[in-house]
Amino acid sequence: METKVLPVSKDSLALASSLLRDGNLVAFPTETVYGLGADALQPEAVRGIFAAKGRPADNPLIVHISDRAQLTDLCEIPDASLPLMDAFWPGPLTLLFPRKKTVPDVVTAGLKTVAIRMPSHPGAAALLRACGLPIAAPSANRSGRPSPTTAAHVLADMRGRIPLILDGGSCQVGLESTVLDLTHGKPVILRPGGITQDMLEKVLGCPVALAGSILRPLGEHETALSPGMRYKHYAPQALLSLVQGEEENVLREMRSRCLSDREKGLHSCVLCFHEHMETLRECSPHDLGSLSRPEETANRLFDVLRVVDEEGMDTVYSEVLPPKGMGLAVMNRLGRAAAFRILQADSAPPGES
Ligand code: AMP
Ligand code: MG
Repeated sequence: METKVLPVSKDSLALASSLLRDGNLVAFPTETVYGLGADALQPEAVRGIFAAKGRPADNPLIVHISDRAQLTDLCEIPDASLPLMDAFWPGPLTLLFPRKKTVPDVVTAGLKTVAIRMPSHPGAAALLRACGLPIAAPSANRSGRPSPTTAAHVLADMRGRIPLILDGGSCQVGLESTVLDLTHGKPVILRPGGITQDMLEKVLGCPVALAGSILRPLGEHETALSPGMRYKHYAPQALLSLVQGEEENVLREMRSRCLSDREKGLHSCVLCFHEHMETLRECSPHDLGSLSRPEETANRLFDVLRVVDEEGMDTVYSEVLPPKGMGLAVMNRLGRAAAFRILQADSAPPGES
């Protein structure tokens, strides 16, 4: 199958709409990452998403809408969700709702809830309006690869597997949406993203909990509140390790590990903040953006992970961010990409040496 890549225009939207109505897949830009969409109400079309991605069938999808009126056919609407929709829709917040029977099992992996969001990206909004369908869409990567933040990333993973990619440039947020569960009374963030815990607490006026597995692997007997948390995600082919500790120690440790791996004949590099590019210049550093702007790191992370794969790296050492605000979303993705391999750079706690 030929995969067309077209800029978002009246003609490409008409083509995308007719493909979607006929049960085909279309990749499209959103403000988070590129999505791989199908008509959410056609089970056969949705099964095509799982096949194209190689995604396990028990990992449910997010349904995208352009108008709140579409909710009525899909789910119950708890009162607590209203102020959140007022504040953050359209935008990078996915909410779980008690589902109605109209939503096929294949979309929710048989769960009683359906995840729904209204994207703000003009290309995504235009597509949703043009086709008038609720669109089920996970990230448009092959399962286990970093999520795509450009049309070129989508093409690299999906060439020959889907008929059309709408190119809307690079994604603004660069990490997937925040997933919030309100269906069990107290609100819980299942996946951190661009809408932070603080922002949600301000609107809800109550504490918002974080699912346990956000910054650590899921325990052997633990059930995942969000099935996606079970899977190894965003994994580069290189062995990625995160280095934690006092800044000076971290930079020394990263440099020494990278250079010593090279002596063993391995391809090795580092991911570091803009401020440290010069200090680590011998280690082929990749720029994670400024230390003081976690949004910048979020925006670049998946692209950087793809680049280190293209470079054929064997080992990669990365700096970390404090897991607060957008830093939490970054550390959730980076932690999972590194299979939570974390090296401590401080040999002794500060003040003891
Ligand atoms: P993706 O869009 O590829 O990042 O995947 C969607 C994410 O939303 C996955 O992590 C899913 O596990 C999660 N998700 C979707 N529907 C539900 C649901 N009904 N309950 C809990 N998590 C969900
Ligand atoms: Mg995904």
